[in-house]
Amino acid sequence: MNTTILGYPRIGPRRELKFATEDFWAGRIDADALKAKGAELRADGWTSLRDAGLDAIPSNTFSFYDQVLDTSVLVDAVPDRYRHLTGFDRYFAMARGAQDVPPLEMTKWFDTNYHYIVPELGPGTRFRLADGSAAKPLVEYREAKALGIETRPVLVGPLSYLLLAKPAEGAPGDFRTLDLLDGLIDVYAEVLERLAGSGAGWVQLDEPALVADRSDEEIAAFARAYARLGRLTSRPRLMVATYFGTIGADALRVLAGSRVEAVGLDFVAGPDNLDVLASVGGLPRKTLVAGVVDGRNVWRADQGRAKATCAALLGLVDQVVVSASCSLLHVPIDLDAETSLDPGVRGRLAFARQKVAEVVAVGRALREDVPASVEASAPPAGVDHGVRARLESLGEAAAGRGDRGARFAAQQDELGLPALATTTVGSFPQTPEIRRIRADYRAGRVTADAYTRAMKDEIARVIALQEDLGLDVLVHGEPERNDMVQYFAEQLDGYATTQYGWVQSYGSRYVRPPILHSDVARPRPMTVEWATYAQSLTSKPVKGMLTGPVTMLAWSFVRDDQPLADTARQLALALRDEIADLEAAGIRVIQVDEPALRELLPLREAGRPAYMEWAVAAFHLATSGVADTTQIHTHMCYSEFGEIIGTIRALDADVTSVEAARSHMELVADLRDGGYENGIGPGVYDIHSPRVPGADEIEENLRRALRAVEPGRLWVNPDCGLKTRAYPETEASLRNLVTAARRVRADVTGVSG
Ligand code: GLN
Ligand code: ZN
Repeated sequence: MNTTILGYPRIGPRRELKFATEDFWAGRIDADALKAKGAELRADGWTSLRDAGLDAIPSNTFSFYDQVLDTSVLVDAVPDRYRHLTGFDRYFAMARGAQDVPPLEMTKWFDTNYHYIVPELGPGTRFRLADGSAAKPLVEYREAKALGIETRPVLVGPLSYLLLAKPAEGAPGDFRTLDLLDGLIDVYAEVLERLAGSGAGWVQLDEPALVADRSDEEIAAFARAYARLGRLTSRPRLMVATYFGTIGADALRVLAGSRVEAVGLDFVAGPDNLDVLASVGGLPRKTLVAGVVDGRNVWRADQGRAKATCAALLGLVDQVVVSASCSLLHVPIDLDAETSLDPGVRGRLAFARQKVAEVVAVGRALREDVPASVEASAPPAGVDHGVRARLESLGEAAAGRGDRGARFAAQQDELGLPALATTTVGSFPQTPEIRRIRADYRAGRVTADAYTRAMKDEIARVIALQEDLGLDVLVHGEPERNDMVQYFAEQLDGYATTQYGWVQSYGSRYVRPPILHSDVARPRPMTVEWATYAQSLTSKPVKGMLTGPVTMLAWSFVRDDQPLADTARQLALALRDEIADLEAAGIRVIQVDEPALRELLPLREAGRPAYMEWAVAAFHLATSGVADTTQIHTHMCYSEFGEIIGTIRALDADVTSVEAARSHMELVADLRDGGYENGIGPGVYDIHSPRVPGADEIEENLRRALRAVEPGRLWVNPDCGLKTRAYPETEASLRNLVTAARRVRADVTGVSG
């Protein structure tokens, strides 16, 4: 082994997997056809890796939905509610639900935008190798072998699997998923023995959980698990892969003392790995798989530096294998498909296929001890001196807004809103007609004038509907946006978008993150025309709608040649200018969405204060230029605020709307206890389902919220934007929302609204 990667995209260069899967769900193709498509995509993947000259090729990195779900199926961790189903019916019911069976939960894979299906385990869970010799890693290993390609099967490691799982509902309070470790190791042992029996020389066990903070108990469990696996008499050689950060010294010491043959470390997201490795005395007699090519961002590697890192490692370990830092699942497949990118930007990029070539090139340079790549170095990022000078001169001036009490009073005067003011989070249903006209406009099939007219008609309809419903703060409905990040990326300098740069987000849902490559600047207003048009149609306040700096970063590929904090400031400056323009045009309420605030939270506690500091500073920079009378809102899409309550308070938005319906308003009290004193809009109904909530149910939610917050600070809104909903249920739900708000308002203020 000299070069390898930890995993490769499985979606196909033209999203073949998505189309086949959705055809299967719609009944257009049968299970055999879907399986055949999977086999074809796997074969293409392996062959292209072999042809690229990669020595050690991973297998079992393909999945019809998600590798963690595959692991649950492998070890038969199937909750009872799916047991009456079989095959794909069971598999996809676990992933996305079926008639009368809700799906398993889904959540983000570490700090990426990939979502995995959360295993649901309880004291009654009995692991076993569900399919015996037909288990997926065995089948895929043999399949590659039949093509003449020797592979290294990849499994989610047992420790990470259990730590990513959650206790099933009804499990006793003291149950911990880690309690199930011994039973799980039995199954892993069987898989390893069978893989050895089929001829596999190596197996990769992914343990990314080791780059987050771990308790002594967890480290002890980890040690026990790998001691057992290491002692198996007939097994493949074991490679334990970590990625997304720096491994803990305690965990690395365990690996050093174990019989595991190879360890993978990420030297891109975890540059401190070199120090940790030195601090434990290296890994004598072991192979180090060195992740020196960035597996989750799109920049071309500095091959000379990658080679130097590997060379520096040689003294600490027995052998160094060149690799990408994590699975290439997180980047688009092939830069060659992008024909309309600016050459200056393109020259700086590498997608999965190009990254494999980089790994191979660094491996060759290392082995033959020749200088790495003589290619000209990548073109530099574009510099905007105007933006840089302005940021410098702004300094402390944009560090926050004035006294919150004064703001509250000024806004009451200015806006005259009632207690329990009603509003929505921004988007209204995106009907097929809206999507069609947007697509037609992009493709040049309709003129700009016709497009603008259609959008304005839609805005007028949405405003009229909200007037009719009796909402207090209106929105324009966002018909012109297909995506809250891409919409702004397309209008900002410093950003590029791709044609085929798809990355799996979950299941058959793929995204094309824009690429933030240079200094960000706003050449012209981005939202003012739509917002002022909407405001011209009503005397009620219309809320301007922007995407915040952290969310712009989280859902893009971001330049890595300067700290994220600096890039966040550039985005914030563009937003600050946009907000000034909105305010000058008569928009009195402006919402800056930050649904990704929690996502960028560093995996380790130690990194969090610095992150929160720059995230908050960027929000302040964006929003602090307005008068006290202008009301700033923000919105977040989740309710587990434990780790970020302090940050939400520090953002100091006048009003924060959050998801709350599913947790029955609990977080209103949490926010109060965390010292948050501004306006709060706990979502009073769940917009993720078409179900129409009754007015009574919303009323009850409001009364519950009022136990923790006074009526003047309580806002009434749905959980999130309405763009994925249809009009009939949206209208009915909002009507009930307004009815409920009016009832409670009449009660608490003695005035009916
Ligand atoms: N304003 C956006 C919308 O309503 C917010 C979406 C989000 O938070 N994800 O669609
Ligand atoms: Zn949301």
